[in-house]
Amino acid sequence: MIPTEKSYQQAHEVTLMQEQKLRDLLAYLNQHSPFYKELFAKHQINIHEIKTIADLSSVPTTTKDDLQQRNDDFLCVPRSKIIEYTSTSGTLGRPVTIALTESDLDRLAYNEYNSFLCADGSADDTYQLMLTLDRQFMAGIAYYLGIRRIGAGIIRLGPGVPALQWETIRRLKPTAIVAVPSFILKLIQFAKEAGIDINSTSVKKAICIGENIRNNDFSLNILGKKINESWDIKLYSTYASTEMQTAFTECGEGKGGHYQPELVIVELLDENDQHVEPGTPGEVTITTLGVEGMPLLRYKTGDMCMYFDEPCACGRISLRLSSIMGRKKQMIKFKGTTLYPPALFDLLNEREEILDFVIEVYSNDIDMDQVLLYLVPADDSEECDHRIRAYLQARLRVSPHIKYVTIEEIQKIQFSEASRKAIKFIDKRA
Ligand SMILES: [Zn+2]
Repeated sequence: MIPTEKSYQQAHEVTLMQEQKLRDLLAYLNQHSPFYKELFAKHQINIHEIKTIADLSSVPTTTKDDLQQRNDDFLCVPRSKIIEYTSTSGTLGRPVTIALTESDLDRLAYNEYNSFLCADGSADDTYQLMLTLDRQFMAGIAYYLGIRRIGAGIIRLGPGVPALQWETIRRLKPTAIVAVPSFILKLIQFAKEAGIDINSTSVKKAICIGENIRNNDFSLNILGKKINESWDIKLYSTYASTEMQTAFTECGEGKGGHYQPELVIVELLDENDQHVEPGTPGEVTITTLGVEGMPLLRYKTGDMCMYFDEPCACGRISLRLSSIMGRKKQMIKFKGTTLYPPALFDLLNEREEILDFVIEVYSNDIDMDQVLLYLVPADDSEECDHRIRAYLQARLRVSPHIKYVTIEEIQKIQFSEASRKAIKFIDKRA
């Protein structure tokens, strides 16, 4: 197959292509974007002087706050051109609307087509989508459009309901699933209890969304390992955000999410908006290419990760992103240690004594971060409590507060009416 992606091309060709697209974007923003027109004027930016990727550094970054507070000013087209109104999940403050035109939906489909190709997808596959296509969820529609363009089969089953998932797998024989990894664990659990031999089913691979399955050295994390211990399927991680309308998806090598340079310019920035070196955590900052409705210029996603720039064994030479280490805003400074919620998720997912959990962070009266863990213990015994406390003390070297709750209580905390997925992290810091 002749690859259509730009991630295989020589670096200088990719740079020339990106620079042309960048100049087009700047001219477009200067003409159509109320927000960026104002930003260029305020900072006396002559867009004609920005010709190379390096020149981009002279443009101030755009933040989530900008997008939240001035959402409508990012729109570059009249309402009559908008087809889809998608929205961010709003886990960190007010949700943001991202409006897409017909051309943006086409771009989104191309993006996800490349992603599924990258994750070894073909017309011979059938994907069972274990996620919502409603509630303005962009990723749902993106997967649908991308798989459709590949020519593979689609089963839109939606999230949850393990019994129905397995019944459908048995009946329609999908080769792949698209799901949140912690839900895959629930599927495995259900199958074990129901006596389903999961390794004899038609499913051979899973596109893992929303949660990490790898450590920073690309080895499987606890969640990934737990899945593979019971279910011999190939796991592919994918990372995306509504704002960038683009995904970073792993190939079969499983060495980080591949960059699609024709769709975004990605920069990883430190605290002072300087570029970080490969293998050093930085904030994912993107400039969308080819977006018509709400293009973004140097938008800071809030996601922290690392990049690697050696060519991949799959033949793609574009850079790769590590798993998301966490959200910059969610960084916890707890009794002298720095940690991100995903690392805590990993820790809590590992123990059989902990059936489910929610992490709450708040500020104490001297403005220090405090961690409260709502845990559903496997049983009410003192021994179980001791094991949990000893484990957390050993792994964290500090003792968070623990509140034991029932399954019903934790579900009330996790599923507030507005949320699309279970909330595992609550930030009550000022
Ligand atoms: Zn690769």
